[in-house]
Amino acid sequence: MEWMIAVSFGEIFLKGKNRNIFYKQAINNIKRNIREIKHGKMYTESSKLYIEADRQDFDKLKENILKVFGISYLAYVLKTNKDLDSIYEATKEVVENSYADNKYTFKVESRRTDKTFKLKSPELSAKIGGFMLRDFPNLRVDVHNPDFKLYIDVKENVYVYADRFEGLGGLPIGSSGKGLLLLSGGIDSPVAGFMVAKRGMKIDCLHFHSYPFTSKRALQKAIDLGEILSAYTGKMTIYSINLADIYKAINQNCDRRETTILSRRFMMRIANKIAENKEYQALITGESLGQVASQTIESISVINDSSERPILRPLVAMDKKDIIDISYKIGSYEKSIEPYDDCCSIFAPDSPLTKPKLKYIKMSEENLDIEKLENEAIEKMEIIEIS
Ligand code: ATP
Ligand code: MG
Repeated sequence: MEWMIAVSFGEIFLKGKNRNIFYKQAINNIKRNIREIKHGKMYTESSKLYIEADRQDFDKLKENILKVFGISYLAYVLKTNKDLDSIYEATKEVVENSYADNKYTFKVESRRTDKTFKLKSPELSAKIGGFMLRDFPNLRVDVHNPDFKLYIDVKENVYVYADRFEGLGGLPIGSSGKGLLLLSGGIDSPVAGFMVAKRGMKIDCLHFHSYPFTSKRALQKAIDLGEILSAYTGKMTIYSINLADIYKAINQNCDRRETTILSRRFMMRIANKIAENKEYQALITGESLGQVASQTIESISVINDSSERPILRPLVAMDKKDIIDISYKIGSYEKSIEPYDDCCSIFAPDSPLTKPKLKYIKMSEENLDIEKLENEAIEKMEIIEIS
């Protein structure tokens, strides 16, 4: 008998012919997340992934594996031989491990993938349940609302376990194309990236700073946030663009109240150029309707006009509180609230337009050499790789 980790995949199996690609993708993402933690052989047996490891490393492995999208649950399982005695030996150890010392109700759930095994699933459950009642006086059966379930998976080997740790669900990264996340240093954009990545989109990040008006720390913060995200999304590229000259040009040539909206349109056009070059199918932002001046429906509409590609806004209808909850869960909140000088806030006007009109914004843009400003910014782009 041997303890090991079992990983079960969820929604992937709804996806017909792409199933194998997604399955491999999820397993690769798991391998990446545990490459620095000691573990033994990995193999699959009828659609579950099994990982050999020392018990003392289980919790660390679990924490890292559960960041991978596409997992429905993970369990610590006892692998044993395919005969009734061995199965009951394993059952006893599983129960003694966590459910022997108190009054609990239970239910046995057997699943038989190997139909040559002589007992059918209900018969196996009944037999094992009977043995448990005989040997553990604290336990009672409750088939409707048990305190714990004792699972028996009969495959090539038999796996016995009691507890399941729920995964994040979602789809494996890479199954929904490739997008470019506009990553600021705030709370919202990392959450937005997490949400589209959860639907299977591979993401890289684009960060705008305005050094020397903002400190080097602003960029470092975006990189740190990218690193936190990459535990879920896999390796990523961060493109970093200096907007200082663009802000200067806007300040010199346009109405100050238009700074925010004009700079957002620059961000979008630059993002589109990078997307064109590097083949991103969509842009992603952390915009949420009504949250600030640049996020009124009028602003969003004027910003949209500057993008050829779809802008995905997964937070558009979410309250700040719910966004913060997710940010806590994924581990980006503490980093996001560190103080820093954002390029947008430094150049932000005291009273930004809340209802910009596309016609007037386009007239203002005629005062700027947009092509030249953008191309110069892109030429000086820095690229940071998170492996
Ligand atoms: P966040 O918390 O993500 O910074 P926010 O609530 O501060 O968002 P805004 O500052 O209006 O809202 O930004 C809206 C979105 O525009 C951000 O979520 C991000 O996707 C993008 N964005 C804003 N500033 C930057 C920046 N400096 N670099 C990259 N993207 C940015
Ligand atoms: Mg912000």
